Amino acid sequence: MVEQRYKGYTLRNFEEIEQVKSLSPEIIEAIKVVGHVLPFKVNSYVIDELIDWSNIPNDPIFQLTFPQKDMLKPDDYQVMKDALDRGASEEEITRIANEIRYQLNPHPAGQQQYNVPMLDGEQIPGMQHKYRETVLFFPKNGQTCFSYCTFCFRWPQFIGIESLKFASKEIDKLVNYLNEHEEVQDVLFTGGDPMVMKPHMFGEYIRPLLEIDHIKTVRIGTKVLAYWPYKLTEDTSEGPKYLDLFKEVSDSGKHLAIMAHFNHYAELKTDAVKRATRNLRQIGANIRTQSPIMNHINADAKVWAKMWRTQVDMGMVPYYMFIARDTGAQHYFKVPLVKAWEIFYKAYQNVSGVCRTVRGPSMSTTWGKIEVTGPARVGNQRVLTLRFIQGRNPDWVGRPFFAKYDENAIWLDDLKPAFGEKFFFENETQYLQSFDRIKNLVELPLISS
Ligand code: SF4
Repeated sequence: MVEQRYKGYTLRNFEEIEQVKSLSPEIIEAIKVVGHVLPFKVNSYVIDELIDWSNIPNDPIFQLTFPQKDMLKPDDYQVMKDALDRGASEEEITRIANEIRYQLNPHPAGQQQYNVPMLDGEQIPGMQHKYRETVLFFPKNGQTCFSYCTFCFRWPQFIGIESLKFASKEIDKLVNYLNEHEEVQDVLFTGGDPMVMKPHMFGEYIRPLLEIDHIKTVRIGTKVLAYWPYKLTEDTSEGPKYLDLFKEVSDSGKHLAIMAHFNHYAELKTDAVKRATRNLRQIGANIRTQSPIMNHINADAKVWAKMWRTQVDMGMVPYYMFIARDTGAQHYFKVPLVKAWEIFYKAYQNVSGVCRTVRGPSMSTTWGKIEVTGPARVGNQRVLTLRFIQGRNPDWVGRPFFAKYDENAIWLDDLKPAFGEKFFFENETQYLQSFDRIKNLVELPLISS
């Protein structure tokens, strides 16, 4: 069985990787120092089939999965390096790591304050309800990934600070909540990567949803196709079971939407990902693709155009280009909004109409998903035009608004309204409450689990 070839590597054993043995001492040191602060895990499929080891350190998949020196600010890097060099205790290293981590905005976009739903006056940890139609669910057993992405905004889930995690095994609470909220049509399973679960375990989460009439779409946010596609091929023990489970979803009449994370076309090149994609399509799943735009990995229109074309050739639907979130190593990956827009449109103009299902570049902010639709001139003023793709208030969706043109801005917080003192939505702070909080107006503590 193919899974016998699967091997995971972390900080503890990565120096056993054959290809790593030929890396320079500087690169290995950086992996160790940064890997003590940001999560690091990689697997044998990524190492053997995705990374081009003749192109280190620039290979995009190496950048995506292996910690790099500049992912920490120089002072932070030095503090951690000194601690490791002098053989500091595990306790001290953890303390230093946590001090650095807490400066990296571990929960961007108000995830902990604003989005935790309530049932019978109690919070439901492991869930978020930010947009009217969609509930996010974080299965307790899906809070890890096949490999960790160095840019990931979910990084606090993986570093063992309990208070920073979301998770729930309380499927009953999810079902009760959904039964009380008929406005919800979609449930998005996310993590980590929920596909790390065994198929029978995932089935326990999914099957009760098939009984709820108003749930129309089961979405699964996953990087399984990029990091371990054998989970969906016929030559593994789990592949056929997973495909049977997903077929149950399609056969029940629900829409099964795989929200697949691909950051570079290199992740689409193997025979395994092609077979897994074909299998998913055959059982009736729709695969939509998404990625942030990131310096060092994919900040190039040619990369995006080739990625979207390849995805469409494989039967996937390009869905989102995101702006890297304001968390973790954002300083390393950041691409200014204007530059991201230029890359998006250059790529968009060079693909055929069937690829132009993609939206972006989009920021997932506290207020909602905001798309940068480009620079423009209004009268004598140079502006940046934006619009909501998703909003805490559904009335905001599709509404254009204008910011002063700023080619250095990397996030909404950097932008100033082009007209007036505030953006229109800043007068509607009541929507920063979760849906039940609007009714109850009780204080939520910062921590959800
Ligand atoms: S697979 Fe997804 S959740 Fe996991 S580290 Fe990568 S981006 Fe984050």
